[in-house]
Amino acid sequence: MPPKSPKRPASSAVEDYLEQILELINTKGYARVVDIAGRLSISQASVTNMVQKLDADGLLKYEKYRGLVLTTAGEELARNITHRHQLLTDFLQLLGLAPDVIHHDVEGMEHHVSPETVHAIESLTSHLKRRPALLRGIRSGIPATRSRRNF
Ligand code: ZN
Repeated sequence: MPPKSPKRPASSAVEDYLEQILELINTKGYARVVDIAGRLSISQASVTNMVQKLDADGLLKYEKYRGLVLTTAGEELARNITHRHQLLTDFLQLLGLAPDVIHHDVEGMEHHVSPETVHAIESLTSHLKRRPALLRGIRSGIPATRSRRNF
């Protein structure tokens, strides 16, 4: 456990919900249970249960007929996971990996990287972007960049 964090870290499931809710709000202007269920391939009943738990934890406000909004704390967690998702995607794209491999791996990795590793990957990514010759050398050393359909 990181000694500097007083709060219990959010679970992967909580992060996945918040990530999808923020994306829905940003793209559609609102997030409904039915849309979250569709995106996460989870039943609406399960989504409703989780949304009620997130409401009880102070991460969002849920009103059955008016949809839901993120609280400040919920939005902060959502922005954080969205940032990790984007950063890891950028990094793996830079290495030339196939889109489905990137998607699969990012969805797992994003929940487990510490802030220190996030900063390290950020630094590495920005340096690599300025060193195309080095990047070509790294890419040529990565054998399989083909799409993998089954995980
Ligand atoms: Zn993600």
